[in-house]
Amino acid sequence: MTCVSTRGEAPAVPFREAVLAGLAPDGGLYVPQRLPALDERQWAGLRGASMADIGVAMLAPLLGDEIGVGTLSALLADALDFPVPVVRLDDRLAVVELFHGPTCAFKDVGARVLARLLSHVHDAGQPPLTVLVATSGDTGGAVAQAFHGVPRTRVVVLYPHGQVSAVQEAQFTTLGGNVTAVAVQGRFDDCQRLAKEAFGDPRLRERAHLTSANSISLGRLLPQMVYYAHAVLGLNPGTRPVISVPSGNFGNLAAGLMAQRMGAPIARFVAATTVNDTVPRYLATGMVEPRPSVSTLANAMDVGNPSNLERIRWMFGDRVEAIRAAMSATVHTDEDVRRGIRELDARYGYVADPHTAIAYLGAVEDRGAAGVGAPGRLFLSTAHPAKFGDVVEPLIGRPVPVPAPLADAMARPRQATHIEPRLAALSVLL
Ligand SMILES: *Cc1c(COP(=O)(O)O)cnc(C)c1O
Repeated sequence: MTCVSTRGEAPAVPFREAVLAGLAPDGGLYVPQRLPALDERQWAGLRGASMADIGVAMLAPLLGDEIGVGTLSALLADALDFPVPVVRLDDRLAVVELFHGPTCAFKDVGARVLARLLSHVHDAGQPPLTVLVATSGDTGGAVAQAFHGVPRTRVVVLYPHGQVSAVQEAQFTTLGGNVTAVAVQGRFDDCQRLAKEAFGDPRLRERAHLTSANSISLGRLLPQMVYYAHAVLGLNPGTRPVISVPSGNFGNLAAGLMAQRMGAPIARFVAATTVNDTVPRYLATGMVEPRPSVSTLANAMDVGNPSNLERIRWMFGDRVEAIRAAMSATVHTDEDVRRGIRELDARYGYVADPHTAIAYLGAVEDRGAAGVGAPGRLFLSTAHPAKFGDVVEPLIGRPVPVPAPLADAMARPRQATHIEPRLAALSVLL
């Protein structure tokens, strides 16, 4: 697969180089030069297929020249070994649950496939790739769990000591093996600065085979196309739903647009955001005007300058009218989120986390605007409600049972190396 930069100032590279590099040298994001569509017969043949099989059908046309179909198939079966159920709420509305992976959040999908892709493209015989990640909480867990036990890789998680929640800390300090947790005496900004300094040191970078696993990686984005296809293929034949996506960095939505390009039967998208509304404002005015982010109940979506907007604009030749035809946007306050959580519980007996509640509100608001006869709606659930029990439980008036992966992590002993926020202290661990 030929990958090009959204900024057009970097050479085209094969997927292997794009996934190892992360960011393109011109500062742009890598995108597949072409997204070949599957034809109707191929889509029809995938009805009832597993996530892994749909993944092979969608990714082999892209990656087949670099990764053999047998390898790709085994890799996807290993990574996507959890269910992605579609739960029907009424005859026009259903929720796609993306939180049945090991950290109970949708980032497991992309991170688990990325880990195995990186392991595959990294030359055997070399020292392991070191994935360095700075986390304020959630990303560290998803990345650590994704790479845990994957050959030819190790993970170093930097987190601010005493400033992440107990569940979050348990997810990356209890794994051991190829996962090292580093508690930094400082704040999240110190962790991020340390990671940047390490990546900026060419000798250290080369010695430790440093790579990143952040949300701009094409290796995280491509596999996210698969659950869109899987969800719509489970609906009645001929159905083309509108899909509401709770959006922060817009990787999830970019993947949905790519799945649609490949021919997945999707009418269009709703980008549902918190009051961090840079993309909704862009759709309204045609101007990209990032703002500093503000904190909300859906904190994984508090992004003031969403990186994947650049990919979306590239896909549509930077024509805002074309983007408007593919997606609309809705914006929701914390008060709306609380109402959404209560309403989902009262109407459907469905317990949702704050991010999922925003997707629900987006689906309902857009349905109201589209009027009678509008297509049915799916909305994506990106986290298990137990991860946000402190918000959800008072609203629904009962406890949210903690799923096994979270309870297990909480029960295991934690282990971390403590360091001062200096590169010299980090570099001896790399
Ligand atoms: C990361 C995240 C999002 C936002 O996804 P993007 O791809 O950044 O738009 C939404 N919900 C949850 C729970 C997340 O962790």
